[in-house]
Amino acid sequence: MLSWTVGQTKITSIVESETPTSPRFLYKDLDKIGVLQRAEKAPWLRPHFVSDEGYLLQKIHCLIIETGEHRIAVDTCIGNDKERSNDLWSNLQGPFLDDMTTAGYPPESITHVICTHLHVDHVGWNTKLVDGAWVPTFPNARYLFVDTEFEHWKTEESLFEGEDVFGDSVAPIADAGLADLVAIDHVVTEGISFEPTPGHTPGHISVRIESDGAKAIITGDMTHNPMQIADPELSSMFDTDQDAARETRKMVFPGWADGETLIIGTHFGSPTAGTMHPDGDGYRLEV
Ligand SMILES: [Zn+2]
Repeated sequence: MLSWTVGQTKITSIVESETPTSPRFLYKDLDKIGVLQRAEKAPWLRPHFVSDEGYLLQKIHCLIIETGEHRIAVDTCIGNDKERSNDLWSNLQGPFLDDMTTAGYPPESITHVICTHLHVDHVGWNTKLVDGAWVPTFPNARYLFVDTEFEHWKTEESLFEGEDVFGDSVAPIADAGLADLVAIDHVVTEGISFEPTPGHTPGHISVRIESDGAKAIITGDMTHNPMQIADPELSSMFDTDQDAARETRKMVFPGWADGETLIIGTHFGSPTAGTMHPDGDGYRLEV
């Protein structure tokens, strides 16, 4: 199980799935040969983030930030029992909650839930199925949703047809009175704040952690794979606004690439985190 220490703060990864992914799933017009060409220009992408066959090495995980006072779960994966149009994600029966408890974080101990955005693979464990109803998985937590993101997905169709992500994983939280709609630059507690990184979705955030002079960032999906660190121009086909996502990367990366801030990827394969450094026209991630 991966974990990182940032000053007085500990960040632990609870993995739901880790699988090689076809590049075409995330990037239109990019096939395995194209990925290998990019890996030739940015050799650091192998072996952790791109396979020798040109697959993307991706994971879906929840990051738990422990400050001593608070236990903040960032992004709640896909969840069990949910009807999803993607067969790989539908009706999962995984051990995620047991894994959390084994790691020392029983669901009742979580004080805050943050969703970097409200896509299907970031909100799933917000709720669980009990007697045919979706109930909050973290009954003692405040769930923090960016107000513009919440309003957008309240009326917008889910990313994939034939599923109701907002209906089964977000609305029940608001109905239970556990949702706080907050600004896109919200400060959660001392040292933990939202960094606005819109484009992938309208109210998308990254999470900034600062403690005793040490710094970390949880990316969210403004960067799905470190190929986008090597080439900030590369946008994902799931970006609501690809140009805005590109502009966001160009705006925030110079500040993130200070060689000190730990950049923790929301979907980066293990070891998942590293420091960023300017490299040619883009950047590289040093693990
Ligand atoms: Zn995602």
